[in-house]
Amino acid sequence: MRSFFLNLMMSSLYIQMPKAELHLHIEGSLEAELLLKLAQRNNISLPYKKVDDIHRALNFRCLQDFLDLYYYGTNVLIEQDDFFELTYAYFKRCSEQGIVHAEIMFDPQSHTNRGISFDKVIMGISNACQQAKLDFGISSALILSFLRHLTEEDAFRTLKQAEKYRDKITAIGLDSSELDNPPIKFKQVYQEAKNQGYRLTAHAGEEGPVDYIWQAIEILGVERIDHGNACIEDHALRQTLINYQIPLTLCPTSNVALKVISDIKHHPVLDLLHQGLLVTINSDDPAYFGGYLDENYALVQNNLGATEQDLSLLARNSIVASMLNEAEKQKHLTFFKL
Ligand SMILES: [Zn+2]
Repeated sequence: MRSFFLNLMMSSLYIQMPKAELHLHIEGSLEAELLLKLAQRNNISLPYKKVDDIHRALNFRCLQDFLDLYYYGTNVLIEQDDFFELTYAYFKRCSEQGIVHAEIMFDPQSHTNRGISFDKVIMGISNACQQAKLDFGISSALILSFLRHLTEEDAFRTLKQAEKYRDKITAIGLDSSELDNPPIKFKQVYQEAKNQGYRLTAHAGEEGPVDYIWQAIEILGVERIDHGNACIEDHALRQTLINYQIPLTLCPTSNVALKVISDIKHHPVLDLLHQGLLVTINSDDPAYFGGYLDENYALVQNNLGATEQDLSLLARNSIVASMLNEAEKQKHLTFFKL
């Protein structure tokens, strides 16, 4: 068993390592304190009066419990300043954890479908990204994510709304309820996004079957898979992921909170890492799942016995798997060559 002091040394070690967060839903970083503050500011009544009430509601029994709370959270975001404040608060956390680059997903349809303009959403988030670059030196990229339980037509409308802000958005993603909403449902809109020069990623193989990962790669043409846990069931798929070094953005605390795995001790991250897959760890919806990036590193270290070399490789992978250009990647990777 590792000593307390060795664990302490290792935890400060991974905080010091330059890391990128590649799978983060900005709406999922809304902490209870800010949620209550925005509800009051925007005159929205909630079934929760105090921070403790919200923390108690975080004991999810199922995905629906999470979604109920998540949508209460989304509904308090009304003004451009709200989106700014939410995003800036996330970057402040990043600055305390050695995160040098963040690729942030946002769900415009969660807001436009309740009458909030696309403009307020994107301007609030992207202004916070610029401010974070100035204040903390953290670079970022935005991933516009389609809600997959809605139609492809709705996704097309959202892509159209984004045209005016093309320079602020790097990539397209696909999230929300995975089961019964296969990647192929979004084939045409992904083709159009590709034509417009967007980079492509999609959630696949979290709750959904392994076939959804194949579809995301072969039909949507994504360069990265969000989650992808189901690849453990398919040797040929793992070989493809290794051969083409297609990254997986795994999310350990999220998988435990949503019961995608029965116990953290069964998490496949280290097995996949040791097989040669380009795996990374990320926080997904940290305010709801009990952990930002450092808590995810700690979880893997303390429960799976990750070594210093494993943690270093995970951090290095996060830079390699990012959408930064080659020169920017090399700048961060020099840390790992020392
Ligand atoms: Zn996610």
